[in-house]
Amino acid sequence: LKENSRCAGCGIALQTTEPSRTGYVPESAREREPIICQRCFRIKNYNDASSVAIDQDDFLRLLGGIASTNSLVVHIVDLFDFEGSLISSLQRFVGTNPVLLVVNKIDLLPKVTNWNRLRNWVQKQARANGLKVVGVLLCSARKNIGFERVVETVADLRGKRDVYVIGATNVGKSTLVNRLISDYSDLERELTVSRYPGTTLDAVHIPLEDGRSIIDTPGIVYRSRLSEVIPRDNLHAIMPDKPLKPATYQLDAKQTLFFGGIARFDFVEGEHQSFTAYVSNGLPIHRTKLERADALYEEHRGVMLAPPSREGLETVPPWTRHSLRVKPGEEVDVFVSGLGWIKVNGKAGALIDVHAPKGVKVMLRETML
Ligand code: GDP
Repeated sequence: LKENSRCAGCGIALQTTEPSRTGYVPESAREREPIICQRCFRIKNYNDASSVAIDQDDFLRLLGGIASTNSLVVHIVDLFDFEGSLISSLQRFVGTNPVLLVVNKIDLLPKVTNWNRLRNWVQKQARANGLKVVGVLLCSARKNIGFERVVETVADLRGKRDVYVIGATNVGKSTLVNRLISDYSDLERELTVSRYPGTTLDAVHIPLEDGRSIIDTPGIVYRSRLSEVIPRDNLHAIMPDKPLKPATYQLDAKQTLFFGGIARFDFVEGEHQSFTAYVSNGLPIHRTKLERADALYEEHRGVMLAPPSREGLETVPPWTRHSLRVKPGEEVDVFVSGLGWIKVNGKAGALIDVHAPKGVKVMLRETML
């Protein structure tokens, strides 16, 4: 290393003696041109692959090795699409390794949310899905809420182990891993390294000071999530970016709600009652009589009943109908993966039909809020 060398990424003075200090270049990297510091190296390599997504088979192959390692598994899920982003088969692959469940995007819930209740709800759902977790943390990567806790808890639980970070696409995994990287090295400077072309399907190993690694796995793509089946340019309409404003509808049996042209909710049978929709504020809701619903859709889809737009409609799978029976006394949400959920407020039971693009997960669940 020449005297006064600077990192080609961030410009910091390079040094070769203290791995935990800024500007450190490990032995192996000293021959490379241009020379960059270890932190920039990590981030560059991380960004190369951070947005890579893979399908179920490749993903399961990749997970297959975790059970035989000694590591902490951090599973990130999206609170808005909880059942859609929870990897329920995870338990099989992690063996006896502890799983920390990090629930992201809590900024989307109404401000009045009872967080303790929500944490219990998450714990219960995880258990019901066969996942044993050592902890549940609620956070918002975007609003920087709860992140200190995440970083601290990962440090605590990991001891001297590797950390596997696992999640579906779009749950906020990159944001969290970037945060972990910057927390494990003490550079104050913002990074200036640009993304390099070329990606890999493999997990990305980000070395830690103690010789261990953070292993960021590619995001798994679930076709059962609306966000994967509707056109990219319609995503902003269904993905909320502000806290949800619950919208309550008093409905009689044989009334229908259209959510844009993406999904349709028919209240088929039951006493007059109210339903509360937790969906993106950007999605227009139209109410009509059940007997008029088919004709309305034929006439207005892609225009009044949008998104998707007329062009977008061609790429969206046709609807299938899900018949859901709410039993008297049950407190449930009708969950549509990626769209949100509709809380059933009545206690007398109901018969509900949901029409949603083929393949998208639609189900009843214990009410979240
Ligand atoms: P990844 O695909 O899991 O790596 O997720 P990204 O970090 O790329 O984030 C995916 C999308 O979710 C982006 O549109 C982010 O802006 C959004 N996002 C990430 N974290 C949050 C969060 O805490 N709250 C909200 N509302 N959106 C988030």
